[in-house]
Amino acid sequence: MNKYDIIHKAYKEGYAIPQFNIVNVEYARYILEECENQKSPVILGVSEKVAKHLGGFNVVKKMIEGLIIDLNVMVPVILHLDHAKTKELCEQAINAGFDSVMIDYSSHTLEENISVTKSLVQENPNIIIECEVGSIGKNGNEGIIYSNLEDIIRIKKETNAQLIAPAFGTVHGVYKGTPVLNYELLKQIKKNIDTPLVMHGGSGLNEENFKESIRNGIAKININTELKHAWTKSLRKYLEQNQNETDPVFIIESTSQEIKKVVSELINIFGSRNKA
Ligand SMILES: [Zn+2]
Repeated sequence: MNKYDIIHKAYKEGYAIPQFNIVNVEYARYILEECENQKSPVILGVSEKVAKHLGGFNVVKKMIEGLIIDLNVMVPVILHLDHAKTKELCEQAINAGFDSVMIDYSSHTLEENISVTKSLVQENPNIIIECEVGSIGKNGNEGIIYSNLEDIIRIKKETNAQLIAPAFGTVHGVYKGTPVLNYELLKQIKKNIDTPLVMHGGSGLNEENFKESIRNGIAKININTELKHAWTKSLRKYLEQNQNETDPVFIIESTSQEIKKVVSELINIFGSRNKA
């Protein structure tokens, strides 16, 4: 099965593939081990910031390749560049061997968004291309510009992008108050274009938010903040309780349980368990 078909199958069958954003090799290992354990396909998301932090796109690609071989990972793994602000960045990741990229031209005009997305789709027929329309908010419901249905229909028709991330009320980071998700917009999108949709800002939503979104066409859900919180919380706790510990192996390993717990709970809610 090609990598896009993994997401398309989820869309057709009514579950979602999790995208867990990674930060370092151990973090990636815990996620892969838990996905293998749950038999769930997985998308590993990498931001430009993290790729730089680790040394570059080739480092990330080789690191994940190495983990797949050494851990004997059999579940499908899709390596994805998250929120690239330029086409050049997408091309660097593709050249390093990434399977999937998100070109985030949401702050440009729709015409510019269509033009860059279309050229990426045409020039990279074997790569999954994701685009964003509208503006997904950040930290506490700020800056959400709900997508316009006509814009989404247009970008799909003119670019044929495989994945579209609509702004329907989710935010990156931490929610303030109750999220207001526009399921009606998702319903209308699904009615008009037959394309798997991506949810950004999945951290902090409840089970019903996820399930209702999946019922309305969301087939990929990005999780970042929740993992970061779990990682930091376990690290702080471990260091407080083991003030004389100086071995990074034990210190970093202390985060594995909480990371795996988050991964396992979300796989269960998204319905991707045993779908590999
Ligand atoms: Zn995002």
